[in-house]
Amino acid sequence: MENTATPTHCPYCALQCGMNLTPSPDGTVEVGERADFPVNRGALCGKGRTAPAVLSSSVRLTSPLIRSEDGELAPATWAEALDRIAGELSRVRAEHGPDAVGVFGGGGLTNEKAYTLGKFARVVLGTSQIDYNGRFCMSSAAAAGMKAFGLDRGLPFPLEDIPKSGCVILVGSNLAETMPPSLRFFNELRENGGTLIVIDPRRTRTAEQADLHLAPRPGTDLALALGMLHLVVAEGRTDEEYIRERTTGWEEARAEALAHWPEYVERITGVSVPELREAVRMFCEPESAMVLTARGPEQQSKGTDTVGAWINLCLATGRPGRPHSGYGCLTGQGNGQGGREHGQKADQLPGYRKLDDPEARRHVAEVWGVDPDSLPGPGRSAYELLDALGTDIRSLLLMGSNPVVSAPRAAHIEQRLRSLDFLAVCDVVLSETAALADVVLPVTQWAEETGTTTNLEGRVLLRRRAITPPSGVSSDLEVMHELADRLGVEKGFPTDPEEVFEELRRASAGGAADYSGITYRRLAEENGVFWPCPAEGADPEHPGTPRLFHDRFATPDGRARFVPVAHRATAEEPDEEYPVLLTTGRVVSQYQSGAQTRRVDELNAAAPGPFVELHPRLAARLGAAEGDPVAVVSRRGRAVAPARITTAIRPDTVFMPFHWPGEGRANTLTNPALDPTSRMPEFKSCAVRVEAVRG
Ligand code: SF4
Repeated sequence: MENTATPTHCPYCALQCGMNLTPSPDGTVEVGERADFPVNRGALCGKGRTAPAVLSSSVRLTSPLIRSEDGELAPATWAEALDRIAGELSRVRAEHGPDAVGVFGGGGLTNEKAYTLGKFARVVLGTSQIDYNGRFCMSSAAAAGMKAFGLDRGLPFPLEDIPKSGCVILVGSNLAETMPPSLRFFNELRENGGTLIVIDPRRTRTAEQADLHLAPRPGTDLALALGMLHLVVAEGRTDEEYIRERTTGWEEARAEALAHWPEYVERITGVSVPELREAVRMFCEPESAMVLTARGPEQQSKGTDTVGAWINLCLATGRPGRPHSGYGCLTGQGNGQGGREHGQKADQLPGYRKLDDPEARRHVAEVWGVDPDSLPGPGRSAYELLDALGTDIRSLLLMGSNPVVSAPRAAHIEQRLRSLDFLAVCDVVLSETAALADVVLPVTQWAEETGTTTNLEGRVLLRRRAITPPSGVSSDLEVMHELADRLGVEKGFPTDPEEVFEELRRASAGGAADYSGITYRRLAEENGVFWPCPAEGADPEHPGTPRLFHDRFATPDGRARFVPVAHRATAEEPDEEYPVLLTTGRVVSQYQSGAQTRRVDELNAAAPGPFVELHPRLAARLGAAEGDPVAVVSRRGRAVAPARITTAIRPDTVFMPFHWPGEGRANTLTNPALDPTSRMPEFKSCAVRVEAVRG
């Protein structure tokens, strides 16, 4: 196995590009093209191409670390580290109760790890306090999809449908930087005569490809969608037969849209009425069209309603469930989709079941061999959990996340982490969060272990082990097995990923995200299988479900729901003291909190640090030139980074990428105002002032 090319998948984003990995005799690992995987057909971005650099033992942890009495992290044996964690978790549980122990997971964990972490929290620790960083990523789209369609699967169709569509509206996605190989689907769309509309406050690399770019003020795209729906109604472009046959709730949604006159929407968004009309024409004239959202509309304190407004537009024009049409969410993290299906979310059990549903509890408890009444109820959402650290949550087990950089109001969260009685972190590198821990466990990563992920299309994939892990590291599954054993649960935590997956299949059976018909054998032979895929006996096997909603939606009556929504302001509007809006996002050569990619020389050379993107008019007012340090100040703190002056951003808005810690940490500034349904923080908009830094 270990000197030949192994077909596998990238460790980073939700495209989960296919690649071949071949170990070289000198210890390095070569990345090869894997043309058989239809999503990327061999293409990789710089992050994927350089991913093996993070396998090198020169940048990673290869020994457990325990904080010594002098406050330093020092190497320890695995037995010492595991004993210490088990002892501290037991002590906190005994002194303060099970909910004093928190668990925080990640959207990069494989399905097997996410499933086991949820089970570990509820069965071994008995805590309700578990959530994961995917809450920061796509939970508003998930909530809106559940409301409208009765089901959340990022894309309800494969990416290959995009080029066959007549028009695609991309809302708040800079995929030319976040997932570059996906750009080819949009290039093919335009080659085929389709059109691309990009909605983004910045003229991003993605917006530059568009036939029409609309640049609303951050946080106003709900109003933009309502303005478009108003025009759809006023111009007689609704699909009345579809509305009648396949939906409910239209009258209330229609009334809200009619209250949003285009001229009113123009005042709110800054997008002119002629631009709105042109977008409506481009979207409505073709036989097929789709709206795809990403973090822009989702990371808002009204994210669920904002996505709901775009779904309403799709429903009113008869798009969802029709060929090459509908609504989809471009999930961001590598296993952001699978990570939300298997029980590491505060309110969910495997199979995308609700934790407060008695039948769901009974089914999962039976698979786990426990009493349903022993399972705790729903816990806090990610930000609320982090905000409670050091108060009623006294200890935390954290896996695959780096909230010191990625959480909103990050300085406060860093302080909350420091105030814990005990923090244990499993990671491959000493991230900024791991550096605060009492115990750090070095774990295996993507190329060193087998497991499954589910990409943004709902395609379940097999990541294969391609190389031998360095000595000194263990897998997350081994960690949970050992801790469960020490905490008195000797069975039920296997270390073999396929054994975990077999249990996950049974736990998911009959749920919305049904994996019961998927096996490792099928994943290897078929290059991925789309869920839902129920077990229907061996012959014929269920083929999986690449396209959803053709005949009915996943609601009790099979109809999609219009959800009436109205424009409202962001949680923090500009004022005299903080007159500018900050929006945050990513750059092409870094990934999320940067814990991995900041350790890759080639990526660091391309994107060495944070910056503040600002319009020339704002720069002139400050007297700042290109590269000058500028301070961005919000009600939560101050960040300093070099100015990058460009007309690609609105004069009333500044942009910072969020990949870096320290003085230029963008999330020092961001506002943790939460969406009332999804509990997603408002990363995309907060009020700031910008100051020149003299001397
Ligand atoms: Fe990896 Fe995403 Fe880049 Fe593909 S686009 S190579 S999955 S980071």
